[in-house]
Amino acid sequence: MRLGMKSRLAVALLMSSALAGAASGQGQQADVLITGGTIYDGSTAKPFTGDVAIAGDKIIYVGPKAAVTAKRTIDAHGMIVSPGLIDAHTHSDHFLDSPDKAQRSNAAWTMQGVSTVFLGIDGNGTPDLKAKFAKYSAQGIGTNVVSYVGFGAIRQAVIGDAARAPRPEELAKEQARVVKGMCEGAIGLSAGLFYAPQNFAKTDEVVALAKEAGKRGGIYDTHQRDETTYSIGLINSTKEVLQIGREGGLPVHFSHIKALGHDVWGKSGDVIKLINDARAAGQNVTANNYPWLASHTGLDAALVPRWASDGGDAAMLKRFDDPALMKKIKGEMAQNLDRRGGAQTILLTSGESDSGKANAAPDKPWTGKYLSAIAKEWKVDPLDAAIRILRETGGKASVVSFNISEPDLENFMKQPWTVTSSDGGPGHPREYATFQTKYAIYVKQKHVIDTGFFIRNSSGLTADIFKLDRRGYLRNGYFADVLVFDPARYVPKADYIHPAILSQGVQELFVNGVAAVDNGKPTGAVAGRPLPHTPTAGTCR
Ligand SMILES: [Zn+2]
Repeated sequence: MRLGMKSRLAVALLMSSALAGAASGQGQQADVLITGGTIYDGSTAKPFTGDVAIAGDKIIYVGPKAAVTAKRTIDAHGMIVSPGLIDAHTHSDHFLDSPDKAQRSNAAWTMQGVSTVFLGIDGNGTPDLKAKFAKYSAQGIGTNVVSYVGFGAIRQAVIGDAARAPRPEELAKEQARVVKGMCEGAIGLSAGLFYAPQNFAKTDEVVALAKEAGKRGGIYDTHQRDETTYSIGLINSTKEVLQIGREGGLPVHFSHIKALGHDVWGKSGDVIKLINDARAAGQNVTANNYPWLASHTGLDAALVPRWASDGGDAAMLKRFDDPALMKKIKGEMAQNLDRRGGAQTILLTSGESDSGKANAAPDKPWTGKYLSAIAKEWKVDPLDAAIRILRETGGKASVVSFNISEPDLENFMKQPWTVTSSDGGPGHPREYATFQTKYAIYVKQKHVIDTGFFIRNSSGLTADIFKLDRRGYLRNGYFADVLVFDPARYVPKADYIHPAILSQGVQELFVNGVAAVDNGKPTGAVAGRPLPHTPTAGTCR
């Protein structure tokens, strides 16, 4: 069929508007035009070569050749253009809360292409979210922020560090704090039942609080009670999470899902089956994972039995002084060290850990050394070395612990319901290098996932799971969180010994239309915004 010039033009225009989702944007004035890049829009759609235009804080065009005039044009030939990436689990507070604007620009994350980070994870989120978000808006932050209200923060405030159930009036107080957090914009309730004092809670207490989050449209996010064989075991712990979701009446999200330690290596298939069965039965279950074989946690959380933490760090250190108790603690520490793979798998880091929180701390003589090497240096048993470090840090030393098997990691990563997280905090390279590491190793080197899966499961899918308003996709009218990266140069630079080196390969990153990374360098811009969740209508006064 031959078409006249006019009809061909009409067909071309129709096609371009269909690809663009809408014809709007064409003919308009843009601030930024990104041209000729390979566009992955955050969905499962195939990539295509085209243009993205930004005006103010919004995307005004996505499609083939844009007919817009722009103040600035970026040639993206050979580059990938995608939504700004979303990191579903971070300990980035130490940057975002800093009085220093350069720190708040959050370059560790923007240089990975991340435009939105999640906070308040592992049970750490404050219920006073309105004040936290107001501070972020007033001072400026480099990335957008989503936050949970945390079970740990709440239990600590109401019950302290005691290993007991809440009294009825205490449970009511805990629930009130969940309501406060949810009504001030929390995305849901996070918990870290692995950690003391959260570990002292039984399932029913968590369900009672999860219900309050669920009523307000929240999700339950968890660092589950046991990722190995510490207490109830990985499988029972997974079942507990699913139970909390069912009885709490809300979606559940497993954070940094893993099979930790040789006792449970190979069990990823069993965990995945439990989740797939629950999903098939209609339950809303998702997860995030990170592309690292080593986790990062407190030395106390890794080795010291939970009963010894009843009452907090000071009480734990006091128990160390009682020879009979110390003997019992050391016996259990030996088992825990074996679970994780021995002293040669435990690397002491520069971070300071407080039950799942990671804070920056000055280097110590043991920083960057394995527990086995320190023990040798001090001519003591590794357990005695660990106890000495705990004493000298008031119980707050942190460790990188190599305890994950490659097949399990890949198995979890491949699932269509798993999104990317870094769990990044000071002392582990995942803070600076998670997304590049995932791309370099699991997309390009091992082909476990492809580029489209990597991008979708780090942007659009994450936005869908958490119902983020107009984020996670390159679409007309969406917020202009836009990443341009060079696939040939998108590589990590940080490693376990030098964990704080900026990654490479991000050419441009726009956050709400403002360049956070420009020409491969962080700009120091603080155009990020808090993204408060809107609670279900009528559930907050
Ligand atoms: Zn965690």
